[in-house]
Order: sequence, then structure tokens, then C-alpha cells
Amino acid sequence: MSVHPQIDEDLALYALGSLQGDEYAGAKEHLEGCAACRAELEQLYGSMALLGLSVAGSAPPRRARTRLLASLSREPRLQLVPRKRSWWMPLSLAALAAMALVAALLWRQNSGLQQQIAGLRLNSAQQMDQLQKARAVVETLTATDALRVTLVAAKTPPQPQGKAFYVHDRGSLIFIASNLPAPPAQKAYELWVIPTQGHPIPAGVFRPDSHGSAMVINPPLPAETQAKAFAITVEPEAGSSTPTMPIVMSGAGE
Ligand SMILES: [Zn+2]
Repeated sequence: MSVHPQIDEDLALYALGSLQGDEYAGAKEHLEGCAACRAELEQLYGSMALLGLSVAGSAPPRRARTRLLASLSREPRLQLVPRKRSWWMPLSLAALAAMALVAALLWRQNSGLQQQIAGLRLNSAQQMDQLQKARAVVETLTATDALRVTLVAAKTPPQPQGKAFYVHDRGSLIFIASNLPAPPAQKAYELWVIPTQGHPIPAGVFRPDSHGSAMVINPPLPAETQAKAFAITVEPEAGSSTPTMPIVMSGAGE
């Protein structure tokens, strides 16, 4: 399929949108009935789009540029009629300037994002470091094969003992117990936070292992809980909402 010579010269101007009147109507009618010329027009549109892209990109597509320039050079009126030339040139320069501006804005945005990414990467590395330290502490505390030894004064038999570590700001509570006797069947121990105001707050049900050791890590607690003391009671395995007397162990913060 080849382009018909009678329209070939008009195709470039048609693609640029600068064909008018009878010439436009004639070209349009021919294009509607001619697949070969439509294909050539599509190629011209493609060349124009590629030329636009190449301002922002790195490698100018030489083939597209050559094809469009060749097509324009076959168009005699472009040289003969200065009116059309003067319309095309300023528009082209304005378009190039606009695209250069967009490219510059994109480049600035990009370098800003690069800086943000570098900052986040540093932040993330520091957090990973902290996380690894925290994980090492927790792994040692929670290891099932950890040797748990409670040191007591010489010649004193080991006593049941519990330690609560509570960080109010984070609502974070770690409770570690040792030398606990096994609770009765179908019963468990329950940890309670005694707040400065209000009723005791349930903070986790637990059973000690065969060595009498137990741990409660970060039980869900109401926000802004100010702890005055901690207590342990014996409760049904599912836990209770209010402590059942007597209190087995208790302790207040210093
Ligand atoms: Zn044709």
C-alpha cells in the first residue's frame, strides 16, 4: 500500500491541524475512504507524539524526527505561505518551552523524593537496630530452654516471686514470676493492675511451667492507666472480671 500522491502533500498539514476549508474537507473525505493514507496519518501522529516525548526523555527518536521532517519538506505550501510557517514555529517553541518546564519541575520533584527516601532509609536502619536489640531481650526472657534462677539470701528457701515492669506512657507491661506453685485443677493465676483510681483491671491469665516460671507480656490495658500496684489471684482458667479473694501476691511501685 502506498500513499496517494494527490493527498500526500496535505497529510503533514492535516496531522498538524493546519489544513482548512476545501483542502481540509477534501483530505478528510479521502482519508475516510483510504486505509493506506489513514495508516500514513497514524504514523505522522505517532512521530509527533514521539518528538514531544523526546524533549523530556534522553534519546531523541531519530526515525520519527526524520519521517516528520521529510513529510513536511514534501509540503510545498509550508515554504510558500509564510502565514502557516509563522503559526507553526511559535507554537512549536511554546510547546517545547512548556515541556522543558514540566521536565524541570519533574526533575526537582524527583530529587526531593530522593532526599526523602535517603532519610527514610536511615530512619529504617536505626529502627531495625533497635528492633533487633529488643528482640534479643525478649527472646532470652521468653526462651523455653532458658535457665531461670531466682537469687535469694543465703539459707532462705526460694519463695514465690513476681516482677512487674510497667511503662505508663506506652501502656506496656511485662510480668515475670518464679517459684509459683501449680494452681488447682481448672484454675489459673490472674494478674491485676491496681490503678490509682477505680477498680482492679484484669491484665492476663497464666499458668506457670513445671519449674514454677511464668510470664505475661503486654496484656491489653485501657489507655492512660496509672498503676499503683499489681496483684495475683487464683481464678477460673478463663479469667474473671473482678479479683477473687484472697490475693496470692501483691506489690506496689516505689
Ligand atoms: Zn489514499
